[in-house]
Amino acid sequence: MAFNIAIDGPAGAGKSTIAKRIAAKKGYIYVDTGAMYRAMALYLLREGATTEEIDEKCEGADITIAHENGEQVVYLNGENVNPYIRTEEVGRMASVSSPNPRVRKKLTQLQQKLAASTDVVMDGRDIGTCVLPDAQVKVYLTADSHERALRRYRELTEKGEPCELAVIERDIVERDRQDMTREISPLKQAEDAVLIDSSHMTIEEVADAVIALCDV
Ligand code: C5P
Repeated sequence: MAFNIAIDGPAGAGKSTIAKRIAAKKGYIYVDTGAMYRAMALYLLREGATTEEIDEKCEGADITIAHENGEQVVYLNGENVNPYIRTEEVGRMASVSSPNPRVRKKLTQLQQKLAASTDVVMDGRDIGTCVLPDAQVKVYLTADSHERALRRYRELTEKGEPCELAVIERDIVERDRQDMTREISPLKQAEDAVLIDSSHMTIEEVADAVIALCDV
């Protein structure tokens, strides 16, 4: 049976950084489920879909992933969309379209299929609660919203992208609210998940704590 590690938590908690480290250390595949929701959002934005049209239009998006040179590549109808899915606009649309049941069903099936046959570290919002309820290790990774906004601000500033800390924090808080209050698969800690608050921890410390859980 494949070994599955589920990491859930709010935006900017460091899930992908930690998941990538653990995947590299354990020789597992890293599956970024947020990227799949972002690819769907990109499709809907390109189609100019309104909220009412998401249900119908989402069927036109064929999303698959591959791993090339250690990186997850997301294909949308055969196109590598990795360069286009990291914008704030796509992130916001992902949060608006992800509560749709058809969108969730489509992407959850893809995620479950991947994890059934392969050792994975999968991160997202509902991995421990809905996608992989039997995962051997479950972590709920969080940090306070100001710290998460600061991390994002530094990341964008390093890339030379103009941004405002207050705007980033407001966006993060709003995205969390949407993800936590939606009816289907809301973001919450699974009963059997271990809570890690990374506000005052280094990446190494968090990664070591998760690795320790795998070796129990
Ligand atoms: O993690 P990331 O910021 O890339 O996720 C973008 C959005 O996709 C989230 O705000 C959330 O609405 C949605 N998402 C989800 N379930 C997941 C992963 C992401 O609903 N497993």
